[in-house]
Parts: sequence; C-alpha cells; structure tokens
Amino acid sequence: MKFVYDFHEGNKDLKDLLGGKGANLAEMTNLGLPVPPGFTITTEACKEFLREGTHVDGLDAQIDEHLATLERDMGRRLGDPADPLLVSVRSGAKFSMPGMMETVLNVGLNDESVDGLSRQAGGNDRFAWDSYRRLIQMFGKTVCEVPGHEFEDALHEAKVAKGVTDDVQLDAEDLRALVTAYKKVFAKHTGHDFPQDPREQLDLAIAAVFRSWNADRAVLYRRQERIPAELGTAVNVVAMVFGNLGADSGTGVAFTRDPANGEQGVYGDYLSNAQGEDVVAGIRNTLSLSDLERLDKKSYDELMQIMATLEGHYRDLCDIEFTIERGKLWMLQTRVGKRTAAAAFTIASQLVDEGVIDLDEALVRVTGAQLGQLMFPRFDLASSPESITRGVGASPGAAYGEVVFTAARAVEVAATGKPVILVRRETNPDDLPGMIAAQGILTSRGGKTSHAAVVARGMGKTCVCGADEMEVGSSSFTIGSHTVSEGDVISIDGTTGRVYLGEVPVRPSEVVQYFEGDLDPAQANDPLVFAVHRIITHADSKRRLYVRTNADTGADAARARRFGAQGIGLCRTEHMFLGDRRELVERLILARTEADRNDALAALQPLQRADFLDIFREMNGLPVTIRLIDPPLHEFLPSLEELAVRVAVQHEQGQRVEHDEQMLAAVRRMHEQNPMLGLRGVRLGLVIPGLFAMQVRAITEAAVALAAEGGKPRPEIMVPLVGAVQELETVRAEAEKIIASTVGDSGVEILIGTMIEVPRAALTAGQIAEAAEFFSFGTNDLTQMGWGFSRDDVEGAFFWRYLELGIFGISPFESIDTDGVGRLVRIAAEEGRAARPGLKLGVCGEHGGDPDSVHFFHEVGLDYVSCSPFRVPIARLEAGRAAVESEGSDHR
Ligand code: ADP
Ligand code: MG
Ligand code: MG
Repeated sequence: MKFVYDFHEGNKDLKDLLGGKGANLAEMTNLGLPVPPGFTITTEACKEFLREGTHVDGLDAQIDEHLATLERDMGRRLGDPADPLLVSVRSGAKFSMPGMMETVLNVGLNDESVDGLSRQAGGNDRFAWDSYRRLIQMFGKTVCEVPGHEFEDALHEAKVAKGVTDDVQLDAEDLRALVTAYKKVFAKHTGHDFPQDPREQLDLAIAAVFRSWNADRAVLYRRQERIPAELGTAVNVVAMVFGNLGADSGTGVAFTRDPANGEQGVYGDYLSNAQGEDVVAGIRNTLSLSDLERLDKKSYDELMQIMATLEGHYRDLCDIEFTIERGKLWMLQTRVGKRTAAAAFTIASQLVDEGVIDLDEALVRVTGAQLGQLMFPRFDLASSPESITRGVGASPGAAYGEVVFTAARAVEVAATGKPVILVRRETNPDDLPGMIAAQGILTSRGGKTSHAAVVARGMGKTCVCGADEMEVGSSSFTIGSHTVSEGDVISIDGTTGRVYLGEVPVRPSEVVQYFEGDLDPAQANDPLVFAVHRIITHADSKRRLYVRTNADTGADAARARRFGAQGIGLCRTEHMFLGDRRELVERLILARTEADRNDALAALQPLQRADFLDIFREMNGLPVTIRLIDPPLHEFLPSLEELAVRVAVQHEQGQRVEHDEQMLAAVRRMHEQNPMLGLRGVRLGLVIPGLFAMQVRAITEAAVALAAEGGKPRPEIMVPLVGAVQELETVRAEAEKIIASTVGDSGVEILIGTMIEVPRAALTAGQIAEAAEFFSFGTNDLTQMGWGFSRDDVEGAFFWRYLELGIFGISPFESIDTDGVGRLVRIAAEEGRAARPGLKLGVCGEHGGDPDSVHFFHEVGLDYVSCSPFRVPIARLEAGRAAVESEGSDHR
C-alpha cells in the first residue's frame, strides 16, 4: 500500500487521505507556488499504526525513499553534521482539531549539526542555537509530554538574568546556555537524554502525531463535533525554511478578506526574525501586513499576488501561513478560512458580484445556523468593553446581570427584578431553578454537550461553557489576577463565548429588523442586510418545501407572516382555555349534568370563535391548521398539593368550602401517573361529550364570518394523538355533520387530518390515511414515544451523559433522529401517500426549524415544515439549500 505521497502527487480533493493541510500543500505545489518540498504520510498509515500499536509494515522503507528525494531536492542530508537538512513534522487531519499534536520544527538538529547550521547561515551562531532550543522545547512538549511551562520558565529566567525583555535580545551564548538548561529539563522528565539521532527524532515525532489522534481531548472533541473516530490523521514532513535568520526574515498569517465581516482587503499579522509559532503565541507584538509592505516590498507584492491566485483558485476566502527567509517568500499553509456568520453572508454575496460563484453556490455556502446567530440581539462593542475571558459559545444570545454562584441565590436576586448570571464550575440537575431564573449561565468546565449547555439550549437561554481560565469559588471567581465577586455585573456572549466586565449595551439585530420589514435592503446601505435579502430570496425561488409557522395568536401569526410564513402549521388551542377562562374550564370539568356541561361549553364557544377569527384574518388566504385540544384537562386545574393543603386548612378552621372539596375530589380522580401517556388528545375528545364539537363549531363559524367579510379562510382541523384509524373516523363523522350544518353557502372548505405522533399511527398510516386529508408529524411526541422518555425528565437528568458517551451525536429533540424516529416518518409518508395519493404531509414539531432536520424532511418528500416564527427564515434558507443540494446530486 502506498503510505507516503510527495507534495507533487497530491491535490486538494484528497483530504481524506492526506488531511487538510497535506492536501492543500500539494495543491499549492501544483499551482507552482513557492512551497518548501516535502511529503505527506497518509491517514491510512495512521489507522494501521493505531491498529498495530507501534509499527506499520513497509512504512519505514517508503519514508526512506521520500526522504532521499527530499534530500536530493534540497542538496542536503538529514543528520549531516556539516550541512544538515532540517524538517518540520506537522499533524493534519481532515478537520482541524484541538487536542491533536501540533508541530515540531527544526527536526534534525543535534549537538554537532547545530554548528553546521550556523555555517549554512554564514556563521550565524545565534540563529543556530535559537533553532536548537526551539527543537528541544517543541519536541519535549509535544512528543515527550514535558510540561511546557518549565521551558518557558527557563527562557524567562535567561531573560531576567540578562536584564532584557525580548527573546531577540538573547545572543548566541545565552541561547547555548539555554539549550543546556532545556536538556536538563528534558532529561528530568523523560529519564533519558534528548535524542541526538535525527532519524530517531523524526520517527518519534511521527509516532507522536499518530498517537495524538487518540488523546483524550481529541476524542472528546470528535464526539462533540460528530467527527468520525476512524478518520485518522496524516503527518506532513516539510523542509524547513527560516524566518528567524535576521531582520530580513520573518513569519506571518493572513486572510484574503476580513473573516469578521467579510470586507475585502488584506488582513494579517507579521513578525520579523521569528519562527511560526511565535505569531500565534503572542510572544511579541505583531506588525500588520502594511508594515511588511514597507519592510520588504518585493515579498509583499508577491504575497498579494499569491493571495489573489488562491482566492481565484479556491473561489473563497482563504487563510494562509507564510515565512520569509532572507527576502524569499515561502507558503506554509492555506485553507478555505473560517469566518463569522456575518462574513459568511457578505462574502458569499460579494463573490456573486465578482462573478466568482453563482447564487446557488452562495446559498449552499451559508447555513441556517449562521442565519440564526444573526437574528439574536448582539452586544454593541463600540464601547470597547473589557473582555476578561473566553469560553465555548454554547447557547447563543447576549446577556448581562449580577454574578451569583448558587441556584438559590439566582432565584432570590432574580425575584427582586434584577438580571443575574449564574456562574458555576459546572451545573447539575439541582441548579435547574437557578438556570431558569438567570439571564445567562457561565461555567468553567464542560463543552457544548455539558449539562449546562444542553439545558440552556433547550430553554433558549444564553450560555457560555468551559471558560477554563476561570477559577470558580463560593462567592467570587478569579481569572489570573482579576477577581469578580458576587453582585458584580458581567456580560456574556453565547455566540462568541466572550465574557465582559460590566454591562455591555445590547443592540437589536439588523437582520430581524429587515425581516420585520423595518429595513429596506436596497436603502439600508448595509452589506449584511443586502446579502441576507439576496440569498434568502434566492432560497425562496429554489425551495420545494413550504414553510409555515406555529402560532397561537393573531399577533404571532402576523409576525410570522412578515418573516415569510406561508400559513400556520400548528395553532394550539389550549392557551384559549387559560387566564380568565379558567373558571369556565373548571365548570366544564366539574359539571355533574349534561346541562351544566353544555352551559360551560356554550360559554366557551364564542370566545374560541373570536380567537380563530383573529388568526384567520391575519392569515387570510393561507392555510391554518388548528389542533383540537391536546393536554390532559387536569393541567387547567390547581395542583393536587395546593388544593389538599387549602382544604386541610379549611377543615382545621372548622370550615367546609364545597367548591374546593369538589375540585380536590376531581383532581384526585384525574390524577395520572404518566400524564404524557394518559387521558389527552383524541382520547379526551372521545370521553368528554361536546368538547371537540364545540371547537369544530367555533372554527367553522369563524371561517364563515371571515368569508362573509370577503376574506378567504383555509382552516384545517387537526386531531391530536391518534393511534388508530377508528379514533379519527369517530371524530371525523361528528365534525363533518357540524361543518355541513354550519357552512351554509359560504363556500368555506375545511380539511380534516391528524397528527402522526404515536408510533402506532406511523405504522398504520395506510389505514389512517383513509380518514385523513393530511398528516402532520408531531416529532416532539414521536421522539418521546419512539424513545420512551419524556423530554422534561430526561434533558436535565442524563442527556449530557449520553452526549458525552457519544450515544447521541446531538439531542434527538434538537435534530431529528433520522435512523429511528425519522424512519417512522418515512414509513408513514410512504404508506400514507400510497393509500391516498395527494395526501398533504407536513411537520409541526420543533424539528421543523432545525437545519439538519429540514434537509431530512425535504428528502422524505414532505410538503411543508412548520416552526416557531423566529425560525421561519432559517427554515426558508435551509429548504432552499436542500433543494439546490439535491439538484446537484441529481446531476452527478
Ligand atoms: P498548525 O496546524 O497549528 O497551524 P502548522 O503545522 O501549520 O501548525 O505549523 C505552525 C507554524 O510552524 C506554521 O505556521 C509555520 O509558521 C511553522 N512551520 C511549519 N513548518 C515549517 C517549515 N517547514 N518551515 C518553516 N516554518 C514552518
Ligand atoms: Mg498552521
Ligand atoms: Mg403532541
């Protein structure tokens, strides 16, 4: 098997085999750009190494062969004491991953060749010893796990001893002494001397890269980001070029456009007389690229030209790493660069203007998740707030408040009306009340799948996790020398993970203003708003899925319509039984006689009719799916405990309040062990005479009233929790009679359909379709019942553990579980349509607004998704992307 590829042999499409870095180094080599020669050891070799444990058959010989070519190209040999070839050993997986071994530079140096290197550089001893001390430091740290700070301490001591502040002020002698100190550190921790054999250095470094694939942090990161564990990493061996040869040398990083906002121009940092890692490490203050233009015009011009070439070639923003050795420019890395959500939109739109990509491609280059980020209010950073630390942005939003350290204190302070940020090392289920009370949650441990993150996302609450510079105590936390005490105000950004001191002002999102219709994209003079407008308009022209909204009030319906909703996919009726209508519901529940019950229903009906009319008006001309009442009726009554106490107190005082006693008896009678699986949905409608009938009549009358005003109502009556076609047939027969006797000559037409949310319904969809004009998948219940767990109980109790163990890649309530719950959807869609061609299919669970799930629903062939108003634009965008992507795969 071929395990080693010369840079001439690879290309950018071989990321699986060569990793991202190796594939792109090969691509740049083929483009004729100045890349130092080298080769890549494949991910296959890594996999084999990890299987075998130590050794890969045939790999050594292939490395020998490619090393010989490299030596020939460079005119130098690895380990030649007089004129040594040095190489860097660099990890590079398909996806870049924190926790993986980084880079070792200057491999090949030892006590002898350090003099040869000095001669190569024209007698530059300082450079040679600087390179050697760097090798021991990096090799010690990354290959042999010597604690890095010990080297840093030794370097610091050397500077203090000399009375200087900057590395470059250390001379050759200082650095030679530092090498001696470093070797001692190395021997102390490893129990052996720093290896002098260059080939042994190389082999040890390669093996360390392979092994780092399974380092704890890398494993954890892969689970969280759903990166398959079997990919493996490649290793790149690259001839060294030197940025630390003096003032005419240096190293830098650059972007072809601003990755923060997409603005065109050149962005980068440069450090003269330095080797690669110094720029990122922030050891010295970097210069900007315009300073480089002043220092070295020739290299600067060449760099500009190469950046233009790369953008043209990759047709996207690229980031690059480069080094200048004595006025000669070398390219050491490129890739399509990461960017913020705002930049993703503006860059895609700019590239369309530049004729580089078309609108289809612009659409697939942005995501619903990015659009979602842009719809949250943001901190206004114009005031330059002080950022004290940074963690993982785990649940987006911008929140500020007084710092509290316990859930109890959070509840207490929040009760006084003040916003609070709950700060914990990590959260657990006991913190739930505090999390609910808080404006935002900040933890020092855990990532995107920790308890805090999962629960916060479920609640839509801002959360920053894993801010690990933070030491959390019982009444304060510290970051370095900074202390923040209970009661101090901080601000947290759940998108960027930044934590600021004080209250940072919050700005509404321009993108939301645009969707609200308050910003005209043509006049807004805001490239972001224009880009969003342009791309979402294109998505609308492409998508096959309709997007509806879940809305229970006229106001919600109106907003969703502004956001582009094409109807209501789920109008819940239960809120219409709350507030001052509770009393009527109590009468209904406590009714002893048919007459009492009918009175209560008759009183409710006009109220419901008014609610429906309001919604039909707002959605005039568009379909409105109304779900008949779903939750168990006891949810509308006071809690058992509350009532029991009240009645007990009354008895104590020798009173008897008949109403309360009746109510207590009713609540006892209706108490359920598993309300989620109890008397609710269609079951309720079949048990309580007249309840559904009242709702059906209210819906029909409201529709007739709107038609009389000249409107066009399009009601769809949806029966919840059906598991058997007989349930639906019974409801349907009664509803049809009521409709027939109520519509008169109004021309109103009403569809009757059902939710598919019980697994049995999905599996008997062919039968149920006989009685349903539409199906709407209630994927929340379908997920609960498919898995057999209740969301309220499990999200805080064990989901974090399942995510940590990789049993879930993502919570099945966030993104549909395509293998299991999704399979139920697929079966029901197929069998339903087979029984009734033209059966309308939609989804109204929260998954309707989840980007990945939208792609799944497109693929399964649903007609529409329905989601909360704020998710409507996200669903529009993703439905467009799904359509473009499936077109693409049809062509292939
Ligand atoms: P990372 O993946 O962390 O970016 P790299 O492998 O890109 O790690 O290496 C980090 C830096 O080391 C590079 O940006 C570059 O400056 C320097 N470097 C790597 N290989 C070489 C080389 N062959 N010659 C000179 N510098 C190098
Ligand atoms: Mg790099
Ligand atoms: Mg349901």
